[in-house]
Amino acid sequence: MLQQTQVATVIPYYERFLATFPDVRALALAPLDRVLEYWSGLGYYRRAHHLHAAAKAVVERHAAAFPHEAQTIATLPGIGRSTAAAIAAFAFGARGAILDGNVRRVLARHRGIDGFPGASRVEAELWAIAESLLPEREMETYTQALMDLGATVCTRGSPRCGECPVATDCVALRDDRVAALPSPRPAKEVPQRAVRVLVIERAGAILLEQRSAAGIWAGLWSLPEIDVEADVVRHCRARYAANVVAGPNLPVIEHAFTHFRLTIHPQRVAARSWPLRAEAPGLLWLTRDDALAAALPAPIRKLLRTL
Ligand code: SF4
Repeated sequence: MLQQTQVATVIPYYERFLATFPDVRALALAPLDRVLEYWSGLGYYRRAHHLHAAAKAVVERHAAAFPHEAQTIATLPGIGRSTAAAIAAFAFGARGAILDGNVRRVLARHRGIDGFPGASRVEAELWAIAESLLPEREMETYTQALMDLGATVCTRGSPRCGECPVATDCVALRDDRVAALPSPRPAKEVPQRAVRVLVIERAGAILLEQRSAAGIWAGLWSLPEIDVEADVVRHCRARYAANVVAGPNLPVIEHAFTHFRLTIHPQRVAARSWPLRAEAPGLLWLTRDDALAAALPAPIRKLLRTL
């Protein structure tokens, strides 16, 4: 929950989440929709999907007892090698190297490693360094200190080398290359996609559609989505057997994903007649306020707030 979100914001979410899902069995048995509902507002829903899937895996594969070894923890959904080692160190004092973004930066600077840390050759070198530095005992203290060093001293923008406990043998400091390391990601053109989303309104309610279990915004409730060039009236007739009138376009929304940029063209649509057979599972008519309480993608939530 704390990834990209401040502690003060997270606390009420955390308390509500734990009150509703007090242990791993409760979380594993809960329907995904309910988990997403309690995650709603934190964004990055993929983490909630993973948390739910990991709880199921712990119950099914490990008889509801969380595994202790980093290697086994890393087989759970959403948990990579570094996170697994951090969990094993903090929860069980196990010995294992971590290599999150902050630690990559510290090691790249301290050892003067060139190249983008996400590149496999550089990453392998950093893992080897991280492994070689592991102490024999007090793993928890060491791991926390390394994370804190990256988060508070060897920061990305303004490292405080004057206060750094490892400054005496830091290669980047010695060679005056602190600002140049770690090397940035090689520039790459980000693909661009565009979709039209429909704000279909009927008697004060808006139509929400549940997205499929795979792909972007998997399992979330969202506005119906069509090709930018598609005919809205024809689409609604074919998809819902509904008679609608296409309304005005709303301001365009730009949204950045890790691998592409999405331009969203929202359009108002008035439903004149809506046959009962279009009230299928996966479709919901909600007032704007009720819709805002659902598990929505962030840009769709922003759009509904402006209506
Ligand atoms: S001396 Fe500066 S660059 Fe080197 S590890 Fe410490 S804070 Fe980072």
